[in-house]
Amino acid sequence: RLIHKVHGTVFEVNLDALTNNLNFYRNKVGSGTKIMVMVKAFAYGSGSAEVASLLEYHRVDYLGVAYTDEGVVLRQNGIKLPIMVLNPQPESFSKLVEYKLEPEIYSFKLLNQYLDFISSTETTFKIHLKLDTGMHRLGFEEQDIEALIGLLKENPQIEIASIFSHLVGADESEHNAFSKTQIEKFDRMSKQIITSLNSQKTLRHICNSAGIIRFPDAKFDMVRLGIGLYGVEVTGSEQKSLQTVGTLKTVISQIKNLKAGETIGYSRKGILEKDSRIATIAIGYADGFDRGFSKGVGKVLVNGVACPVVGNVCMDMTMIDITDAICEEGDEVIIFGKDLSIRDLADSIGTITYEILTGVSERVKRVFY
Ligand code: PLP
Repeated sequence: RLIHKVHGTVFEVNLDALTNNLNFYRNKVGSGTKIMVMVKAFAYGSGSAEVASLLEYHRVDYLGVAYTDEGVVLRQNGIKLPIMVLNPQPESFSKLVEYKLEPEIYSFKLLNQYLDFISSTETTFKIHLKLDTGMHRLGFEEQDIEALIGLLKENPQIEIASIFSHLVGADESEHNAFSKTQIEKFDRMSKQIITSLNSQKTLRHICNSAGIIRFPDAKFDMVRLGIGLYGVEVTGSEQKSLQTVGTLKTVISQIKNLKAGETIGYSRKGILEKDSRIATIAIGYADGFDRGFSKGVGKVLVNGVACPVVGNVCMDMTMIDITDAICEEGDEVIIFGKDLSIRDLADSIGTITYEILTGVSERVKRVFY
């Protein structure tokens, strides 16, 4: 196995850690429950084709993406697993069918558009019905169900591969009661459809990563695993079992010894109170290092020492105070990873771990080991 010597900014993805995390969730749900892995948003920043290949090797049951083009990229990379597309735009229906992708259908309008599109063919088409049980984002509501059943009965060329819904607050215990009402509602609505259409093969699913941990009785036929696979805990209790998958790192480009009173970077926002050693590192907000980390809010690790950001984060570079670190130009700098958690980063700028992970931009090289 090859560990690449890296230059510049890289996002390292540990595939063994990913496998460990998959096995953790597999053991949690047991062999009777299928697993769909969400590989949308470039597999949460971790590289969709490579992650999907590994998942195919490990025989997960389904992949989930947000848009048709994300599914097309997977097919072009040879991925054969069934792929659900959460938000298929009608303009992309021909690609969807060409690449054997399966759309989420969330409204009568979308269903009718899809029916019009497929009307001229004899084949059956798999769809995934989305039910709104409280998120109020996409999905059919309880009062839609009878009409929906009627429409589906008239169109036997549609095969309901699955019926699903999404929990709004599974990661926060304060929303447990609401999650339970969502689960009950989902059970009721989905049962009504399956019974009326006699479609016993239809899979039902509602749990995301946090749902798997918190609501083991709501596994239904499948779960949709996202952030947990990438090693980011959501409920706290799974932390010791998960391994960190992604490490974002960069290098020191230049070091300067500067006097007290000098200012650093744009708008002179970094004012030195004492003589300091300042390093410029090769990462900026265009790489996904949020500008909110400016002026001491963000800390990075240089040879094990936490070094604060000085002044404003620039587009491609950032200055940090390395007075307390032993380092030289060319040394590696950890932005997040095993010893510097994404959660701490997210908390420091008032966002969520998902945004930090998916925010690592396209120009950052992904390296797999
Ligand atoms: N299912 C749907 C519909 C989603 O939108 C997402 C993520 O946003 C997931 C499942 C996975 O959620 P998580 O990453 O919290 O496991």
